[in-house]
Amino acid sequence: MKQLFFTPGPSQLYPTVPMHIQNALEQKICSISHRSQQFEELFSSTTKGLRKLLTIPEEYAVVFVGSGTEAMERIVENTVEKSSFHLVNGSFSRRWFEIAQELGKDAKKKEAILGKGFSDIPKISKVTELICFTHNETSSGVALLPEFMYEIKNKYPQALIAVDTVSSSPYVNLDYKKLDCVFFSVQKLFGSPAGLGVIILSPQAIEKAHSLQKKRISIGSYHTFPTLITWAQKNQTPETPNVLGIYLLNEVVNDFLKKGIGNIRKETEQKAETIYAFLDTHITYTSFVEKLFRSSTVIVAEVGDSLVVQNKLRQKGFIVGGGYGSFKERQIRIANFPAITMGDIENLLQEL
Ligand SMILES: *Cc1c(COP(=O)(O)O)cnc(C)c1O
Repeated sequence: MKQLFFTPGPSQLYPTVPMHIQNALEQKICSISHRSQQFEELFSSTTKGLRKLLTIPEEYAVVFVGSGTEAMERIVENTVEKSSFHLVNGSFSRRWFEIAQELGKDAKKKEAILGKGFSDIPKISKVTELICFTHNETSSGVALLPEFMYEIKNKYPQALIAVDTVSSSPYVNLDYKKLDCVFFSVQKLFGSPAGLGVIILSPQAIEKAHSLQKKRISIGSYHTFPTLITWAQKNQTPETPNVLGIYLLNEVVNDFLKKGIGNIRKETEQKAETIYAFLDTHITYTSFVEKLFRSSTVIVAEVGDSLVVQNKLRQKGFIVGGGYGSFKERQIRIANFPAITMGDIENLLQEL
């Protein structure tokens, strides 16, 4: 039976991806040298495409790492000598906080109840070097308003601002000039196979890494910001990268550019509204998240017994995510990524 993945990562492949994989094999992409001109052209095309799609300022760097989780670690390593601050409202933001602790940093946090966002600006010590946000908490279906992050940046200009957009890029429309480290991985909205992360870096973030290095503080080895950037200037990576992943990202970015980012954003909102309208009027199912904090890309529903609902949907070929952590048994999570059409959503809701 045909299966459609509404899981929040890995997820349904973007419809053009199987064809792009076929082409990659025919072009022997997996065998080319990562020091070749062909690779340099691929690297350059991919970063140019991302710059255009996301409107990344020219002076910002775009570098490749292995995953979203790696990006969390690299960002803390490269920008924090002593202390970081984390807005924690679910598993992914908590993971980032724990990574900072594991790296021996003095990590502080402000926690929101699961399923809620933050209503006030938290008090943050002036010695904080990095403030970390998870724009879209995939575990709870809560999205933060970009304005909330900008407001905190205004209030604490001495700190660098880092944002996890793994389950919202390229839907989320950010003003990168107000942010320093923004990252995502490709197996969510980009509808590609997992194993590639992208970090967008401000000149200030890069400068901070250099200054830590000058103080002889360890910022890692092969994936430090200075090393990544030195290689990126040559359109290369320090290590043998996930060349197939970069190839597929380049193709999907081109597909998104052809479709238009405005259309992708509009369709995402229309599909999300359809799902929330269904939940708001259903007799037993409800949205876990209140209106103000609702994510457009990961929708969490209270369904009573999630296993029963998941199994029923599975029989029709619809794979939805279970609830996260302690909500595993009562919630389902529906990824509303660009690979999913309005027709797919209507069919899913019909079954629900
Ligand atoms: C999936 C996800 C991650 C982890 O990304 P990986 O590429 O699996 O390391 C981090 N943050 C959020 C919000 C996610 O949804």
